Amino acid sequence: MAFIIFGSKETFINLDAFFIKCPSCETDNWADVMVTSEYYHLYYVPIFPFNKNAHVVCKTCGLKRYGIGFDKKLIKNLEEVKHQYKHPWFTYIGLGLVGLLISFIIISSMLRG
Ligand SMILES: [Zn+2]
Repeated sequence: MAFIIFGSKETFINLDAFFIKCPSCETDNWADVMVTSEYYHLYYVPIFPFNKNAHVVCKTCGLKRYGIGFDKKLIKNLEEVKHQYKHPWFTYIGLGLVGLLISFIIISSMLRG
């Protein structure tokens, strides 16, 4: 029986500093925010991404928060910066291959008429 290797992996997207509220300092402070993309893989080939994680380190008190949501609650100007935090293109390889396969099947069936 074939053994199917399937699971999720995480890959780096971007690292920047944001002015965000720290639960330890209880004020807005500069923090380093590293954002990662989580994607499903099949035999280590990325299929599609499904989540973004933020890993935050407060520059004032050093509080580390890993794997928290990358959303408006964390980054107030998310709309302005989110284009810098797209899932890397290769995390869509599986979707792209499936799309290619489907178009190939459609085209070949049309050619056979
Ligand atoms: Zn802090």
